[in-house]
Amino acid sequence: MSFLDILSGLSREQLRMALYSTSPAQVEAAIEGEQGNLSHLLALLSPAAEEYLEPMAQRAAALTRQRFGHNIGLYLPLYLSNLCANECDYCGFTMSNKLKRKVLSHDELAAEMAVIKPQGFDSILLVSGEHETKVGIDYFAEVLPLVKAEFSHVAMEVQPLSREHYEILVEKGLDAVMLYQETYDPETYRKHHLRGNKQDYGYRLESPERIAQAGVDKIGLGVLLGLDDWRMDALLMGYHLDYLERRFWRSRYSISLPRLRPCVGGITPKVQLTDKGLVQLICAFRLFNEQLEISLSTRETPSLRDDLLGLGITQMSAGSRTEPGGYVNPAAQLDQFEISDERSAAEVASVLRSRGFTPVWKDWEAGWIGAG
Ligand code: SF4
Repeated sequence: MSFLDILSGLSREQLRMALYSTSPAQVEAAIEGEQGNLSHLLALLSPAAEEYLEPMAQRAAALTRQRFGHNIGLYLPLYLSNLCANECDYCGFTMSNKLKRKVLSHDELAAEMAVIKPQGFDSILLVSGEHETKVGIDYFAEVLPLVKAEFSHVAMEVQPLSREHYEILVEKGLDAVMLYQETYDPETYRKHHLRGNKQDYGYRLESPERIAQAGVDKIGLGVLLGLDDWRMDALLMGYHLDYLERRFWRSRYSISLPRLRPCVGGITPKVQLTDKGLVQLICAFRLFNEQLEISLSTRETPSLRDDLLGLGITQMSAGSRTEPGGYVNPAAQLDQFEISDERSAAEVASVLRSRGFTPVWKDWEAGWIGAG
């Protein structure tokens, strides 16, 4: 049974009612309760849990320290292309935006890597818009070995692919795939995805299953917080994570919690997730799953990113550019979204150290799983 079948069988209305009628006693039981319990996750995401942020934060910090120590992994997104055949009304790369479009050539990719590598990064996230014909499997299969030659850990955040195509990329050194559902509400999903393959909610929802079947080591889930009720979207992402972990236990999992940010021609959030809400969200997922990697992007401000350290975050990007060619030519103005934290990688690493954390540039070696 796929997760699409599971989701179809859930009563969203009942879940919503349970979320909004959670009692303080249920929150208290969830804070002290066992991990991996979806009823507890629901209680921790409820409005009632807002009164319990302090004990939630204390337990989340203790669990994070126990599992991850004081380590924070640092990675950088490298945009391969801003070509996109989809119309998503929250994104600067949306097909109808009049942007200069670009796909990195091999030489341009090498030039980007030559700027990134000396900053210390050994973990890279390859990002592109979704353009099956011009930036599809053939292009990815060509560039992946070039990137793998420079970086130990290579993740991708591109369009959903077939299982066979993921298998080809795993052969070429792919370590992780980030694929965000954006929202688990089909109606909201339909409203924001107006043209292109991304309109297929079900194909996207079942993608993590194909990724796991292809043997990808790490799979990242995420929702774009602000498109819909963040409590419901986060809860359903918890259901998705639970399904994947039980069924595809060989893969590791991470989540990203991006808040909707302004972009060229984009929309404003329908539902504002406050800083306090973001803290609740991070703590709720850490209490739900102590193994889970939680990533925080440069969409958030420097002060908030610094304050969230220790609560549950295990990975951060730093010194990011969100346009193809942006490391060589930072003034390109082809961005996917606005960045709030403009600090360089060295500055972020220095702040981490000053707060007692260890910036980790490399925590992966392909040889460890016999693929080196
Ligand atoms: S969110 Fe992704 S698919 Fe949608 S317009 Fe942006 S790059 Fe394209």
